Amino acid sequence: MPFNFVSERLPWAMKHRQGHSSITPIVKMVYNYFMIVRRAYQYRLYPNQEQRIQLAQTFGSCRFVYNWALRLRTDAYYQHQQKMSYKETSHQLTQLKKNPEFSWLKDVTAVPLQQALRHLNTAFLNFFSGRAKYPKFKKKRNKQSATYASNAFKWNGEQLTLAKMKSPLKIRWHRHFTGVPTTVTVSKDSANRYFVSFSVEEEVEQLPKTDEQVAIDLGIKDVIVSSKGFASGNPKYYQKYQKKLAKLQKRLAKKQKGSKNRDKARLKVARLYAKIADCRKDFLNKLTIRLIRENQVVITESLAVKNMMKNPKLAKAIAEVAWGELIRQLDYKASWYGRILVQVDRFFPSSKRCHACGHVLDKLPLKIREWDCVCGSHNLRDYNAALNLLAVGRTVLAYGDTSVGDTAIALSSQVLLK
Ligand SMILES: [Zn+2]
Repeated sequence: MPFNFVSERLPWAMKHRQGHSSITPIVKMVYNYFMIVRRAYQYRLYPNQEQRIQLAQTFGSCRFVYNWALRLRTDAYYQHQQKMSYKETSHQLTQLKKNPEFSWLKDVTAVPLQQALRHLNTAFLNFFSGRAKYPKFKKKRNKQSATYASNAFKWNGEQLTLAKMKSPLKIRWHRHFTGVPTTVTVSKDSANRYFVSFSVEEEVEQLPKTDEQVAIDLGIKDVIVSSKGFASGNPKYYQKYQKKLAKLQKRLAKKQKGSKNRDKARLKVARLYAKIADCRKDFLNKLTIRLIRENQVVITESLAVKNMMKNPKLAKAIAEVAWGELIRQLDYKASWYGRILVQVDRFFPSSKRCHACGHVLDKLPLKIREWDCVCGSHNLRDYNAALNLLAVGRTVLAYGDTSVGDTAIALSSQVLLK
């Protein structure tokens, strides 16, 4: 079966095809580099009554401007086959503000409104390049946000004051950042919590080089099992909150549409969702930073492959969210700290194949967690899969081959898997 790979974390290594040993000198080159990265720091925010009113007004105006410009651009596109630029929408907004009917737009700071137009422009760029669907209208009950560029906020290293606000915002600091924030985004989620996110350009020192490499098998019982034999487990809160969530959703479904009680029930569901997401992020952050710190190379299967596994259960749906977040975190942390993330993007029989002798089973039902190979090797399902993945990932690294699937399979079976 032909297969090939994506391993776009090391473009420099792609040029070196001499073999496994060529990686070491290449990686040494990036040792002690500083990377300038744009990093977002998010904190909970507790606005006072007055600030809440101001924020509500700003959120509402941003949403209005976004939706108004979306309508404008959609009409230009469908009725006149024209692409409208950010500049044009900005010009039209200036005109709109002169109209007495919309003079209330002048009550809030102009900068977040301009930023709303920029966000829309980005959404259109993503759409035109095929990366995203057509932009949607923003709704009041979804997440609200407003972005302030540096000319619309004051930051003294400790306190943040937004334009038109009398006093600084009350922020719960759980960690500090160095560097100067370029933009600040204030948001309110559907669980009615306020957040502020600082976008900061920072220097990140790359971690000292190590020779360690690891492959991780993504799973349900354990979110990851590594080729070093580490099993992460799967946090209990999934099951615990899942039951509670089902109950709350059932309750919500019974409430009458448009009623106050429905709003309350919806808020409860949103709060629980937010809590689960926070727990998951926290768990995965600890996991990914450890993997990145301890290893120069982290190898995983891509999610496209993982999704081919047929498992209709809810547990899998939940696991998928975690896998997606895990890979997202590994990806940016690898680039920050000078590590390499290899994603193997074609299916290969990682569980059914014995890592010791290469024997491939005809079938291996999901419920079978361990098996004995003809060669005498006792294989733990996920651990064995991780070891196979490690071998394939190393081949990808050594030969830097992202396109020639047939070559890669030949190399992996002859050189490394034997
Ligand atoms: Zn075997």
